[in-house]
Amino acid sequence: MKTEFELVAAARNWDVDIHQTKTPSEVVSEVFGQDVLTLDNLRQRLSKPVFKSLQATLEQGQPLDAGIADTVALAMKTWAMEKGATHYTHWFQPLTGSTAEKHDSFLTPTSDGSAIAQFSGSALIQAEPDASSFPSGGLRATFEARGYTAWDPSSPAFIMRHTNGATLCIPSVFASWKGEALDLKTPLLRSIDALNRAVSPALELFGHKDVRVSSTLGAEQEYFLIDEEYFYRRPDLVLTGRTLFGAKPPRGQELEDHYFGAIPDRILSFMTDAEMQMYALGIPVKTRHNEVAPGQFEIAPIFEQSNIAADHQQLTMQVLHNTARKYNMVCLIHEKPFAGMNGSGKHCNWSMGTDTGDNLLEPGDTPHENLQFLFFCAAVIKAVDDHQDLLRISVASASNDHRLGANEAPPAIISIFLGDELTGILERIVSGQTEQGKAAGFLGLGSNVLPEIPLHSGDRNRTSPFAFTGNKFEFRAVGSSQSISFPITVLNTIVSDAVEQLSAQLKAKLDQGSDLQTAVGEVLKDTYQNHKRIIFNGDGYSHEWHQEAEHERKLLNFRTTLDAVEHLTDPKNVALFGKFSILNERELEARKEIMYDIYFKTINIEGETTESIAITQILPAALSYLAEVSTIKVGKAAGEVSEEVSKAADELYDAIQALRHENTNPGGDEIHEKARHMQEIIVPAMQQVREAADRLEKVVSNKHWPLPTYRQMLFVK
Ligand code: ADP
Ligand code: MG
Repeated sequence: MKTEFELVAAARNWDVDIHQTKTPSEVVSEVFGQDVLTLDNLRQRLSKPVFKSLQATLEQGQPLDAGIADTVALAMKTWAMEKGATHYTHWFQPLTGSTAEKHDSFLTPTSDGSAIAQFSGSALIQAEPDASSFPSGGLRATFEARGYTAWDPSSPAFIMRHTNGATLCIPSVFASWKGEALDLKTPLLRSIDALNRAVSPALELFGHKDVRVSSTLGAEQEYFLIDEEYFYRRPDLVLTGRTLFGAKPPRGQELEDHYFGAIPDRILSFMTDAEMQMYALGIPVKTRHNEVAPGQFEIAPIFEQSNIAADHQQLTMQVLHNTARKYNMVCLIHEKPFAGMNGSGKHCNWSMGTDTGDNLLEPGDTPHENLQFLFFCAAVIKAVDDHQDLLRISVASASNDHRLGANEAPPAIISIFLGDELTGILERIVSGQTEQGKAAGFLGLGSNVLPEIPLHSGDRNRTSPFAFTGNKFEFRAVGSSQSISFPITVLNTIVSDAVEQLSAQLKAKLDQGSDLQTAVGEVLKDTYQNHKRIIFNGDGYSHEWHQEAEHERKLLNFRTTLDAVEHLTDPKNVALFGKFSILNERELEARKEIMYDIYFKTINIEGETTESIAITQILPAALSYLAEVSTIKVGKAAGEVSEEVSKAADELYDAIQALRHENTNPGGDEIHEKARHMQEIIVPAMQQVREAADRLEKVVSNKHWPLPTYRQMLFVK
């Protein structure tokens, strides 16, 4: 008997000898990274000088030498064709938040009927997709419709397989001909450089010379699985990714049916298959199958450098999506596919790591290490407080609006959960409890080390948007369907800013002759006092917190996407992104416009889909049931049922008329007005339609009801 792992490996043509019996972990380690063009692979295929030059590009971020591009391209093509690839594509992250590909064949047919394999260095370094079909927010007027994709050598090329073949994917950035970023990757790469430029000199103050720093990231992805059959019978899911109708199943139902049930075989097979594909792509997934809501699952990788993690995260969504179809299921990555049920997020675990393998947010064993740890923690606290707006903006979308602030995901108010221990330490530093035990103590706190901060401490706070979890921060407000690139770009940028400011303070004190411990102590005290309003260890869902945050602490509360997005180009933010050369004003403006545009389109499609389903499916169902019941001339039940249905149908009809009227009302001429119209008028009008329809769902007979119900969809067998 072959194990499932072996069968999956064989089915996908991975190079695993399945005639020998192997344990799953042996198969996994053989498959891991097989579809990735690693440095080792390239080393074997390139001459020494060419490889050296490429390595300089990869390791020191130097531009690729055009003179070696042809040779590198040939090596890549040969490797890819050996793997069965017939096409190549520059794989990039346009501003829509998804990924884009335009496949070109390696093989060019010739006039004599044969074909030659072509893929040159210039095709590797630069390609020209038809940029006019990607949003540019005005950065690229149509007369300059060209945009370029260029290989990002810091992320390895890989093979994407489909049923009948394979494609070489070349991770790329996407820019206008003027060099302005048209994608999410370019600013991310710039922010990684900025972080290094800010943190590396700070580390020198702590005695570490020439250390390279970058951000590390592990993203936990939540998703739902439903049966494909139901999916196709739900036009709302097909068109918008979420259910626009659907009464909640009876309370408590999910507990009985699902919470403690075994995961069905079909789902386990799907997971194994998806995980194996991710292994082949070099994604270090740690398998985790815990469900939160019925039908909901989670997958998380081991953390990586954040630019690689961002690519891998996009691939993870793609693999989950494609693989589910093979098992006659659909993977829903939307933030809120089912109203009233748990939504899905993507927790971004973030830290800073050095090229010598140190995690800068790991509390250490020595007073010196702890001094440094507290310094960087303080920088993160300052960063989050100074730039609450940017963090909120980075997770703003129409779909995430259903989650944030809905009392089951972090609130829209940004705050930090530090935990009692760390908060206590900072409190003691500020209150100057530095006398007792001065000789032995860390900052005179009486002990040489920080109290141990357990990685999985019991008081993990699920209501905080930004939590310290022992040796990293976890940004929990990120939506399940969004690209993590912009949230990480923001994190890297704001922390660069804070580190730069705090190191300047520290350096000034050291230059005045202060010793490191005293100087850091003073910086910590100052920073904590100025920014402690952002620290909140309590219940983020409570009404009291919202009051306190707003009135006493004066924290920002951008309740909706539109409240948030307009601040992207505030002078403070233009200055910040400009200072670190991450996004210039035009690039920032373009992103803002695209956010408005995407918001408008999302709700517009939802509004029209709601109207259409209500009028063509739900109202007819109600009326035909009503007609049927009305023919029954005897008994109390028939009379009361038809009255109830009739009343709800009338309400539905009125609500549809109102929505229909607003759907045809443009709401204004320009995109900001149109988006506002969506938020203020269409969303409530859709809600009215939904309420009447959901009431009907509870009284109309199953035989007449046109849509699969929540109950049916959520319990995959
Ligand atoms: P939990 O959230 O349940 O505590 P884990 O401790 O396993 O889960 O971590 C969650 C995620 O955090 C994983 O993807 C893990 O790789 C990632 N992570 C751990 N350490 C770091 C780090 N130093 N930088 C970034 N991510 C990290
Ligand atoms: Mg987590």
